[in-house]
Amino acid sequence: MEILNTILNIVFPVNCVSCDKRGSDLCTKCLSESPTAERESANWIFPFFDYRHIPIKKSIWLLKYKGKKRLASIFAEVMYGRIIEELSDLSVLNNFREPILIPIPLSKKRYRERGYNQAELICKELIKIDKNNKAAHLRHGVDVQLVNNFIFKKNVLAKIKETEHQANIKERHNRLKNLIDSFAIKNPELIKNKNIILIDDVTTTGTTLTEAKKILKQNGARKVIAFTIAH
Ligand SMILES: [Zn+2]
Repeated sequence: MEILNTILNIVFPVNCVSCDKRGSDLCTKCLSESPTAERESANWIFPFFDYRHIPIKKSIWLLKYKGKKRLASIFAEVMYGRIIEELSDLSVLNNFREPILIPIPLSKKRYRERGYNQAELICKELIKIDKNNKAAHLRHGVDVQLVNNFIFKKNVLAKIKETEHQANIKERHNRLKNLIDSFAIKNPELIKNKNIILIDDVTTTGTTLTEAKKILKQNGARKVIAFTIAH
């Protein structure tokens, strides 16, 4: 994999979106210098970076709107570490096992416009990392019962209402109204008594995630937590 990346880098050079250094879409230095999220969010929502930090804001924008899909794997890498950390607590305390990853969906219209969903890309990368992690554990003879098996489901949660961008709505109660009944569940049998990890790029007020959690719980989900790149 390393060798392939090196070759690809020579043929199609990649530069850091923040400092322009050759080699990665967001270099290790810029990534490690980015501050983590400190503003308060609900106790079941785990954002990683501080969204106000320009390199993070810019990278998310490029991932979301400009087709810089490789950023999904860079963010998934840092998010995975955080997820495992939280799960090691949760799995002991609340029996939070074999979590189902569900990306916050786009409406059909937006999906057609953009051609992809950034949250879905992150989920796919997380699944990949989790599989590799499991394989590595197996090689080292670790009991894989102790390893989390992430399951990816994109056909559960659907965005059925075209909503105004949350950032464009000034008043809080209008933001909430904007999102009410914006989600639907397609295959409730897939989530009955299951633990769910919601994945999104950014959380601001938490209303999107809260709405998604609400409908998942109404349809029988056991426990729902959420991870985002930034807050
Ligand atoms: Zn950089």
